[in-house]
Amino acid sequence: MKEDRAARRIWRNCTLLAGGPECAPLPDAAVMTEGQNIVWSGPRAQRPATDHGAWQEIDLGGRWLTPGLIDCHTHLLFAGNRAAEQPMRARGASYTEIAAAGGGILSTVRATRAASDAQLYAQARARLENLQREGVTALEIKSGYGLDLANEARLLRLARRLGRDADVAVHNTFLGAHAVPPEYATRGDEYIETLARDWLPQLAAQDLVDSVDVYCDRHAFSAEQAARLFDAAYALGLPVRMHAEQFANIGGTKVATERGALSCDHLEHTNENDVLAMAQAGTVAVLLPIAWHVLRERQRPPIDALRRANVSMAIATDCNPGTAPGESLLLALHLAEREFCLQASELLAGVTANAARALGWQRQRGRVAPGLLADFAVWQIDTHEEFGYWIGHNPCVGTVRGGQADARLAAAIERGLLV
Ligand SMILES: [Zn+2]
Repeated sequence: MKEDRAARRIWRNCTLLAGGPECAPLPDAAVMTEGQNIVWSGPRAQRPATDHGAWQEIDLGGRWLTPGLIDCHTHLLFAGNRAAEQPMRARGASYTEIAAAGGGILSTVRATRAASDAQLYAQARARLENLQREGVTALEIKSGYGLDLANEARLLRLARRLGRDADVAVHNTFLGAHAVPPEYATRGDEYIETLARDWLPQLAAQDLVDSVDVYCDRHAFSAEQAARLFDAAYALGLPVRMHAEQFANIGGTKVATERGALSCDHLEHTNENDVLAMAQAGTVAVLLPIAWHVLRERQRPPIDALRRANVSMAIATDCNPGTAPGESLLLALHLAEREFCLQASELLAGVTANAARALGWQRQRGRVAPGLLADFAVWQIDTHEEFGYWIGHNPCVGTVRGGQADARLAAAIERGLLV
């Protein structure tokens, strides 16, 4: 299949899962794309007439077609690993005790600062390729393991470069407020003030920031500190998001929703009032079941309350060396099904339409509909209930990004393997 960024294509003979919360599979569907965009989708029998020869027809041989998956919460850029924390956790050590013993976020900050650009890039690229093999065409990448201005800028620049080189859409999140760095030990307020007054405006001026995140929790930053940084983000026209109520409820979601946060993530200790505030603000609840699993948590996010209040739920890997090592969005779906009892339609919406909303991308990505970008994933499955079902099996055949098949899918089409 020739690379042609202006091509007109008809992707036919597929079962379409268009994304969105109440989306039934549409058998014998077709999707028409012109250049980067979707121009039509629906039942093949209703397809508009086209000039013969002006459109390239691609027979997907009955495979399933979904929007390209979106991983809306990752810490993809880091060096080293924290495998040594695993036995400590098995012995019952808490997050705070592990940090006090020299582990935790600051140990990854040391390793990341010491790594070269080439090392950081190569490791993140390999992680990204694993996600892409599972159907991911867009993702969020946070900074937060630099924690000084030069290293935070370096991580955000590398994230932009990954997006350009790997043909994947990247949303850059500034997470300078991930932990208080050693240079500011015991001076958290001063650190937040530096981020708000100095670092964030400089990084934003270099177009390195698409949103601003704060780790708001008992052992991290307070709700007041989050509010200070969010107000600085607002002044720069940047949306905000939050690691909220993972270990304790210290009022983070309240502060985030008052500022129209795109998403609040984790949410194990979120209460009913927080859920209502999220519903009112249109804030997406991002569930991170891999971190929940690794930390041997017992308390689940309030899934029923989120459903009752109609809060959109997204699911992400949280890929990071401490609490979610590895890079599998399909595993996150499995755990969301197994541990949080999400239904198949919620799972798919969680990594498509709702994940797009969590990144402010709902007008470009997350559904298969006219006017949106032609980013798809193609699957060898028989039912949509296979999302969340498989463990260690990847039924993704390939992806389409901006109307162009990736190498794997293009090769399968070329060799006639799909029909
Ligand atoms: Zn995280």
